[in-house]
Amino acid sequence: MSREFRELDTTLIHSGEVEEKIEGAISMPIFQSSTFLYSGQSRYEDLKYIRLNNTPNHVVLHKKLAALEGGESALVTSSGMAAIATTLLTVLSSGDHLLAQDCLYGGTHDLLTRDFGPLGIEYDFIDAKDPESWGSKVRPTTRAVMIESISNPLMRTGDLPAVVEFARKHELVSLIDNTFATPVNFRPLSHGFDLVLHSCTKYLNGHSDIVAGAVIGQKAMIRKINKKLLHLGGSLDPHACFLLHRGLKTLALRVRHQNQSGLAIARFLADHEAVEKVNYGGLDEAAATAKLFAGYGGMLSFELKGGADAARRFLPRLRLAREAPSLGGVETLVTRPVTTSHSGLSIEDRQQLGISDGLIRMSVGVEGVRDLIDDLEQALL
Ligand SMILES: *Cc1c(COP(=O)(O)O)cnc(C)c1O
Repeated sequence: MSREFRELDTTLIHSGEVEEKIEGAISMPIFQSSTFLYSGQSRYEDLKYIRLNNTPNHVVLHKKLAALEGGESALVTSSGMAAIATTLLTVLSSGDHLLAQDCLYGGTHDLLTRDFGPLGIEYDFIDAKDPESWGSKVRPTTRAVMIESISNPLMRTGDLPAVVEFARKHELVSLIDNTFATPVNFRPLSHGFDLVLHSCTKYLNGHSDIVAGAVIGQKAMIRKINKKLLHLGGSLDPHACFLLHRGLKTLALRVRHQNQSGLAIARFLADHEAVEKVNYGGLDEAAATAKLFAGYGGMLSFELKGGADAARRFLPRLRLAREAPSLGGVETLVTRPVTTSHSGLSIEDRQQLGISDGLIRMSVGVEGVRDLIDDLEQALL
């Protein structure tokens, strides 16, 4: 069923689903079979096999994810990093050059800085908020530009329309990691981006129980990425496909709740005397992103007066919010990026990016916001 619906909520439930319910089952069953009967296929990628990403559980998800982001085609992968690495290695070859946002997710940052060199792929970092500074970094070999819709852990958003315009002008493939914003709050393809990437581990699945990724875009490009994925092997298992499919159905409900709770918590923290600084896009109503985003989700970060020592004392006092890496689930999690997501960066790099030792990142879950605020209040005393 690839009909267009007026609202994302309906798309999440009904897009991509099989027309004839299998044995009458309302939920899509799990096809836990690595291989399927040969039925005369002549091309390798048409054989039905889990690694070829074409079993019934993959197909339903691909259609649903494509509808969700408003793309022609989608591909699920065994992790967010599998989606990012496979996509970048499809778009870029030895001798090519990439422009990448300077504060990318730690895994993506490390892929560029540690693995691209030996492969002969070059890159330069750009400040995504400063379009004037990009032009001088373009080379004849530049093929692509990669950014994130909301960056981790400072929740910054670059000049997104300028990235699209710049990519068109220089004939670059524009890639955006939309993990933090989710298509509920921002749909990059409708603003002209070429490829959208997700760590489905986070909001799309939403229950902190699987690792998965996805890439969405035009059919020809997704086909190329799929061909690369067949060789690199980062395919998603049908059982994980099933869980992601199930998690997706409540995406809009969860994210809208998280938009409200995230904003309420950001405001509470910004007004609290023990808090030095809060990073949350929704606090700046005049921001350029206000015209682009429907909300800012459940991700925020903040610094306490008293820095790292105060943060170390504060975290164990929390009772509802638990200290753990990762994000986007139904349970509220807190972490100090210097000890988890950004521990791989040098002290100089962290300072340059503005990530202090005392910074606390919070992934707001779907608990009642008054309970979460009570928890913060008792821990801040
Ligand atoms: C977690 C994350 C990734 C990596 O995803 P995995 O599923 O852990 O491989 C990529 N980008 C962003 C923005 C993330 O938060």
